[in-house]
Amino acid sequence: MECHDCGLLHEVPILEDGTTAHCSRCHATLHKFRITSLNNAFAYTCAGLVFFLMANFLPFISLEISGQFHAASLVTGIFALYNQGLWELAAVVALTMFVAPGLRLGSLFIVLGCLTFKRPPRWLPDLYRFATLLAHWAMIEVYMLGVFVAYTKLIDLASVTVGAGLLSLGALMLTMIAAGGALDNETVWRAFERRGLVPSPLKTDSRRPTCQCHTCGLVSNVEPGAHDDCPRCGMALHYRKPNSVSRTWALVASAIILYLPANIFPVMTVISLGRGAPDTIISGVIELADAGMWPLAALVFFASILVPVLKLIGLIILLITTQRGMARRLHDRTVLYRIVEAVGRWSMIDIFMISILVALVQLGQIATIEPGIGAVAFASVVVITMIAAMNFDPRLMWDAAGANRGRRSQ
Ligand SMILES: [Zn+2]
Ligand SMILES: [Zn+2]
Repeated sequence: MECHDCGLLHEVPILEDGTTAHCSRCHATLHKFRITSLNNAFAYTCAGLVFFLMANFLPFISLEISGQFHAASLVTGIFALYNQGLWELAAVVALTMFVAPGLRLGSLFIVLGCLTFKRPPRWLPDLYRFATLLAHWAMIEVYMLGVFVAYTKLIDLASVTVGAGLLSLGALMLTMIAAGGALDNETVWRAFERRGLVPSPLKTDSRRPTCQCHTCGLVSNVEPGAHDDCPRCGMALHYRKPNSVSRTWALVASAIILYLPANIFPVMTVISLGRGAPDTIISGVIELADAGMWPLAALVFFASILVPVLKLIGLIILLITTQRGMARRLHDRTVLYRIVEAVGRWSMIDIFMISILVALVQLGQIATIEPGIGAVAFASVVVITMIAAMNFDPRLMWDAAGANRGRRSQ
């Protein structure tokens, strides 16, 4: 196996149940072997599907203010944003809290369920690839936190009733985390091999040039410069993510440009008794702090203002040090890359909070909340920085520093 973070080759022995193989250089997890892995993941996925349906069909959250009653279901926020003309924002919210989690659960359910059959259908590996792709974009846990921030903003304004749908969403979040934790990519692909759905690859000769598949993780022998397909999953092989540095630079530059309108223009406008006050991201934080909700103000400040800036600075440091071939602090920079990749999604809290407020607070003269164009720019920053982090290949740092010259297997 090749380490996906530093590019070191390892000869991983057949693991015993309950053991995990880590990279000997950067400590990334290479392969986690549990006999119950697929069964557990299937059980969590089944439970997740039930909770997903419950979250959609049971009462979600409702609001009562001066005798006016307004209820919202899980998807009301998406339609509210669409009706206000912000279809881009509606699309991002729909993808991250409804479409991606739903399709990921559905496809994992079919893949893991069919793997228990004697003769599973041939298209299972394709469906599994699709489910893997969706993992980045399913953000139920971030949405939960967005609901929490919206809730604390609303309880001052009106009486809020939390329905069983919201509780189901919390349970869905836990089951999705558990399913993701139980699932191991290599275990799934080996299960496909055993069922004859993909060819079993030949033994790799570590003295000849090798290349790791970015889809299934298989390391196979390739001739330098040749355009080969992975012998296991059939996807095109690349030694490193193609044009990684220039693509990441381009995305970082776009995110920096969009960061300005995201902070200058209002993300939402609260109209109460005929008077409206536009809110930018920073004024929203100040409002929370003025109301004495310090922990929440700190949370939103961290997620919406600090995280995007630190992420951009982090990516720029990674890019510059890679281009200069710096050999110092390679471990720290690999950790920095992991942090940048992991925290990016949490900046969506503000967007989710807006989608919930816009859905609920539609009470005519008494109080109405409208989304602002700043929210579209902000959502773009979050999505673009996420794609930038995905495009950066951390192994290039180790390559550039000469650490992978004459790589030996260990
Ligand atoms: Zn490593
Ligand atoms: Zn492959």
